[in-house]
Amino acid sequence: MSRFISQKHAALTPYVPGEQPRARQYIKLNTNESPFPPPRRVADYVTAEAGQLNLYSDPESAALTRTVADFYGLRPSQILMTNGSDEILNFAFMAFGDASHPFVFPDVTYSFYEVFCTLNQVPYETIPLREDFTIDPADFCGVRKHIVIANPNAPTGLVLNLADLETIVRTNPDNIVIIDEAYIDFGGESALTLLPKYENLLVTRTFSKSRSLAGARLGFGMGSEALIGDLKTMKDSTNPYNVNRMTAAAGVAAMEENDYYMDKVRTIRAIRDDTAAKLRDMGCLVTDSHTNFLFVEVPGLPGAKLYELLREQGILVRQWNRPRIENRCRVTVGTQEEMDAFVKALEEIK
Ligand SMILES: *Cc1c(COP(=O)(O)O)cnc(C)c1O
Repeated sequence: MSRFISQKHAALTPYVPGEQPRARQYIKLNTNESPFPPPRRVADYVTAEAGQLNLYSDPESAALTRTVADFYGLRPSQILMTNGSDEILNFAFMAFGDASHPFVFPDVTYSFYEVFCTLNQVPYETIPLREDFTIDPADFCGVRKHIVIANPNAPTGLVLNLADLETIVRTNPDNIVIIDEAYIDFGGESALTLLPKYENLLVTRTFSKSRSLAGARLGFGMGSEALIGDLKTMKDSTNPYNVNRMTAAAGVAAMEENDYYMDKVRTIRAIRDDTAAKLRDMGCLVTDSHTNFLFVEVPGLPGAKLYELLREQGILVRQWNRPRIENRCRVTVGTQEEMDAFVKALEEIK
């Protein structure tokens, strides 16, 4: 840290992204990317756009916004496209949080939420999950604080049903409720159907997981026009051209190729459920995943040890030395061949 860093950032511990190895070839099951490349149309649209990189991108991402709006049956004014969904989340903490408007979220969830709070000087509280990692919806009813819930949750993979989500949104009318649906294509019920009824609801999505575009950085938020307007103000006050030309073109192609992705989602779910069954047969603890990852414990083996042993066998997974989850590893669902290799490695470890 230099002696020039602002005092307001002295306490900031940045988010630690999953490793992106360059040298050794690993079976990479650590950052929940899709194992499948985007379809040909994505590369074609990106290539066609490359010749115009001398020009700034459209600050409204109008073509992409219209495509996404049509797909979800919303008006373009209810959508803001961003540089990954991490950006829309940051904008939300920036726009709606302050010293007298704190956030709450589960104690075990996406660890970026606490970083965004610290960065934006927003106080936060965490609410413990139940012992089995499920969320007790009653804990989030009428809390009089802004709320962010990943549904399905990460890294647990577990879901809240739509009725419980609605109760949370309805009982916090004077606060924002953000439902982070990064994994919704893999399971669970979307809160999107609640949008017409609740002006305090923000639903966020990403192209990084189910749409094979993690490297393009594309996400978006959906909400009431007024709420999206506030988030646009944040966008235009930090980075008006936040979605670059090639990514915007890739996003349009990705929506046009929806059938391709939904087919891949079905494949990933089948591989996930097959792998989970094999792991349970081996005596591992595995939560009921509604995502593209498995949250795995090998009884008697600390998570850090499991991580190391898998790494020695050329398999990268994610592990956190945090209370309650230190015995678990999060394992992205890869191709059938990759998961066969993972199960085989685990058999040797056990
Ligand atoms: C991956 C992920 C995101 C962010 O993804 P982007 O790549 O920034 O779009 C947001 N929330 C959760 C829970 C995630 O797992």
